[in-house]
Amino acid sequence: MTNTSPRPSIDRDAIIRILSSNTPDAIEAVRRQAEQILLTHCGNKVYYRGLVEFSNQCACNCLYCGIRAENTSVRRYAMNEAEIIEAAQWCAQAGYGSIVLQSGERKDEPFVAFVENVVRRIKRETVSTDLPQGLGITLCVGEQTEATYRRFREAGAHRYLLRIETTNPALFARIHPAGQTLASRMQALEHLHTAGFQVGTGVMIGLPGQTLDMLADDVVFFHRFDIDMIGMGPYIPHAATPMAGWPNPDWPPARAFQTALLMVAAVRISLKDVNIAATTALQAMDPVGREKGLQFGANVIMPQLTPTEHRGDYLLYENKPCIDEDKSECRRCLERRIQSVGRTLAINEWGDSRHFARRTAEA
Ligand code: SAM
Repeated sequence: MTNTSPRPSIDRDAIIRILSSNTPDAIEAVRRQAEQILLTHCGNKVYYRGLVEFSNQCACNCLYCGIRAENTSVRRYAMNEAEIIEAAQWCAQAGYGSIVLQSGERKDEPFVAFVENVVRRIKRETVSTDLPQGLGITLCVGEQTEATYRRFREAGAHRYLLRIETTNPALFARIHPAGQTLASRMQALEHLHTAGFQVGTGVMIGLPGQTLDMLADDVVFFHRFDIDMIGMGPYIPHAATPMAGWPNPDWPPARAFQTALLMVAAVRISLKDVNIAATTALQAMDPVGREKGLQFGANVIMPQLTPTEHRGDYLLYENKPCIDEDKSECRRCLERRIQSVGRTLAINEWGDSRHFARRTAEA
C-alpha cells in the first residue's frame, strides 16, 4: 500500500514484549495502557455491527474452517433477498447503525450480482431520520476481483473485512490448499484500498507452528498496509477439518486466548486509531471473552442477526456461542456486557474507523 504521509514508525520489539507478558501484573499493565490509548484516540463508545451470515456455501478449502467446500457433513444454506432485507431492517430499527454481511466465498456472477443488489436495497430501504444515509454496510465475502470490489463499493458498501489469517508465508501455505496464496490475499487487500473501502483484516492466534515473532510481523503488516479495522481471534479447531488432528503443543487453549487479548492490546497500543472488533471466537473460549476484548482495547462488537435456524450450519469452529439465542436476547445480553465494563453503547452511528478519516484527509 503506498501511503506517502509521514506516520509514526512501529516498534516491533515493543510488540514482542507485550505479547510475552505472562504475569498478572504485566498483563494488567498492558491492558491499562491499551485502554488509555483507546480512550484518548477513539473515545469511550462501542459500535455495533449486526452480523448476518447469509450463506455457508463456499468454494474454498481452508484447512481450518468448518464450512470448507470439502466438508460434506455441513447442511448448506443461502438466505434469500427478503430474509436479508428483513434482518437489515431489524438492525436499523434496533439502532445498530451498521450491518456486516458475511458468507462463504463464491466468485460466480450470480453470487456477485446477488450481493450487489442486496447492498443497493439495504442502502435504499434503511434510510430514516435516525439514519439519514441508511445502514453502514460492511462486506465479508472473501477474495474477489478488483472489478467486483468496485461494484460492491458503488452499490453502497463502504467497509470490507478480509483476514490475512497469517502473514508468515510458510504458515499460510501450510493451512491453505495450493490454489489459495498469500500473494493473492495481499493483492485483494490492495484492490480493496484502491476501490475506496475502509479495509479490515486480521489473523488467527494459536495456529500450529505460529510464534510470537510471526504475530509481531502481523502487527507490522497491519501498519505497513495502512489497515483501518482489525478482527482477530484465537484459532479454535473444528473436528471435521484436516487441521483438527494436528498437534499443537505450544498453544493450549488458555494461552491462545490470553495471547489473542494481548494481540488486541498490541494493535491498539501501536496503531492507536483503528477500529478493533471483540470477536465471537473470544467468547467461544471464555463466557466473558468479548468483554475482555473491550477491556484490552477493542471498540466494535458484532451482535448476531443470523436467523437461529441457520446458525447451527455456520460453524467455523466448535463451541461457537449464541447458537440458540434470538436476536432480541442477543441485543439485551450485549448491552449488559458493554455496560458491565464501563463503556457506552453508540446508537444509530456508523462508527467509522478514525484511522480511515485520517489517512484519507492526509492523502
Ligand atoms: N469467506 C470469507 C472470508 O474468507 O473472508 C468470510 C467468512 S470466513 C469463514 C471468516 C473468518 O473465520 C476467516 O477469515 C477465519 O479467520 C475465521 N475462521 C475460520 N475457521 C476458524 C477457526 N477454526 N478458528 C477461528 N477462526 C476461524
